[in-house]
Amino acid sequence: MTTAVSERLAARFASPMPRRDERRAAPAPRPAVAKVAAGALVLGLAGVVVLGVLSESRADLHVRGGVAMFAGGMAGLVGMYLALVQLLLISRVPQVERVLGQDGLLRWHRRVGPFPISLLVVHAVVITVAFAQAARTGFFHELGVFLGSYPDMLAASVGLLLMVAAGVASLGALRRRMRRETWWVLHLYMYLALALSFAHVLALGPSFVGHPLTQALWALVWAATAGVVLTYRFGLPLVRSLRHRLRVVEVRKEAPGVVSVILAGRRLERLRISGGQFFAWRFLSRGLWWQAHPYTVSALPRPPYLRLTVRTLGDHSQALARLRPGTPVAVEGPYGAVTRAARRNQKVVLVAGGIGITSIRSVLEDLDRAARPVVIVRAPSEDRLVLREETAGLVRTLDGTLHELVGPRSKTGGPSRFLPRLVEDLEERDLFVCGPKAFVDEVVAAARSLGVRRRCIHHEAYQW
Ligand SMILES: Cc1cc2nc3c(=O)[nH]c(=O)nc-3n(C[C@H](O)[C@H](O)[C@H](O)COP(=O)(O)OP(=O)(O)OC[C@H]3O[C@@H](n4cnc5c(N)ncnc54)[C@H](O)[C@@H]3O)c2cc1C
Repeated sequence: MTTAVSERLAARFASPMPRRDERRAAPAPRPAVAKVAAGALVLGLAGVVVLGVLSESRADLHVRGGVAMFAGGMAGLVGMYLALVQLLLISRVPQVERVLGQDGLLRWHRRVGPFPISLLVVHAVVITVAFAQAARTGFFHELGVFLGSYPDMLAASVGLLLMVAAGVASLGALRRRMRRETWWVLHLYMYLALALSFAHVLALGPSFVGHPLTQALWALVWAATAGVVLTYRFGLPLVRSLRHRLRVVEVRKEAPGVVSVILAGRRLERLRISGGQFFAWRFLSRGLWWQAHPYTVSALPRPPYLRLTVRTLGDHSQALARLRPGTPVAVEGPYGAVTRAARRNQKVVLVAGGIGITSIRSVLEDLDRAARPVVIVRAPSEDRLVLREETAGLVRTLDGTLHELVGPRSKTGGPSRFLPRLVEDLEERDLFVCGPKAFVDEVVAAARSLGVRRRCIHHEAYQW
C-alpha cells in the first residue's frame, strides 16, 4: 500500500528536472590524462625490458643453460610487470575511469589478462629447465631443489598456482557458467598471489641481487601500485560511504519484477554525479553485505534522496525487493562514462533496451533543449515499460521525440530497421544505448553500419 510519504517521494523524482542548486555534475573527462597514464605504462614496460637486458652479459648467455636463464628471467620480469598493470586497470583511478568507463577498463583488463599469467608460467618452466641444464640434472629433480631449498620459492609457486586458477576461472566459457560471486572470490586470490611472489624476485632475480638501486625501484613500483589500489578500491569508497551515510527509505514497486529503492543520505547536494552513472551498491543487511552489484541511478539526486531502479533477475536483485527501511548502504562510485560529457554532437538519440531505461532516463535529466533528443525505448510488453511517465515528461520538457517499440521483435524489427526509420538525421547525432548486452551489441553494430562514427556511440551493457 502506498502512503502519503511514499507518494511525496515518488513525486520528487517524477518532477521533470532536479533543481539547478541540487546538481553537481561529475568532473569532465580529460582524455589527455588517460593518454599520459597509458604512455607511462608503456614506458614502464620498456624500462623493465631494458633492465632485463642490462642485467645479462654476453658471457652469461654462453654458459650452459644461459639462454634459457635469460629468456625465463625476461618472461618473469615482464609477466610481473603486466600483473601490476592488471591491478592498475581495475583500480578505478577516477581520472582514467571517467575517460574509458568501466566497460573500457574491463575490456583492457581482459585483453591484457592472458599475457601475465602465461608469461609467468613460461618463466617458471624455462627457469627450471635452465637450472637443470646448468646442474646437468632432470627437470623434476631441479623443481624439488627449488621448492625445498631456494628462498621464497615455495611461496612464489603457491602464488603462481593461485594466479593460474584465477586465470582459468576467467576464461569466457567457464566464467559464464560460474556464479559471479564465486568468480569474484577466486579473483581476490590474485592479490594474495602477487604478494606471495614479491619476495622471490628480489631474492633471486639477476636484475636485483646485489643491486640495491633496482631493488628499491622495484619495491617502490609495487608499493605505488598497492597504494593506488588501496586508495581507489577501498579508501575512496569508504570515505564516500561515511560522508553520505545512505540508508534505505523505501522500496517501491514500479512494474511486475521491477522495484525502485529510494535512499536518503547526508550532503547529497555535494555528490558529483552525472546522468548515466552508476554505483556498485553494498546493502549492509544479512546475506547481502558481502557483495556489491552495479546499478545505475535512475534519476539525478534529489537531496537528501537518491534512487536506483532494479529489474529482479537473480538472487541479489530479488533480495532488493525485500530490503527494510533503515538498511545502511555503502557505495563505490559513481562510475561510468556514458554521460552527456561524452557527446560530440549537440543532438542525440537515446536507445534503451528494457531496464536500460534507468541510464537513459537519468542522461535525459542532464541534457538541454539543444540536444533535441530522440528517445527509443524497446520492451517486449507494455508492462515492461518502466519509468514511462517520467521519461515522457522529460522528453516533452526537452522538445524531443519518444518512440516506444513494444511487442515481439517480428513486429518492431531489429535496430537496423528501426534506427533509420525513426531517426532521419542519425549521422548528425550521438547515439547512447543501454540495456542487456545482446541488445546493446546489436544496436552498436547497426549504428556503425548506418554510418554513425565510433566515437559518437556511447554504450553501457548491463552485464560484464
Ligand atoms: C554498469 C551496469 C549498470 C547496471 N544498472 C542496472 C540498473 O540500473 N538496473 C538493473 O536492474 N540492473 C542493472 N545492471 C544489471 C545488474 O547489475 C545485474 O542484473 C545484477 O547485478 C544481477 O545480480 P543478481 O544476483 O540479481 O543476478 P545473477 O543471476 O547473479 O546475475 C544475472 C546477470 O547479471 C550479471 N551480474 C551479476 N552480478 C554482477 C556484478 N556484480 N557486476 C556485473 N554484472 C553482474 C551476471 O553476469 C549475469 O549475467 C547494471 C549492470 C551494469 C554492469
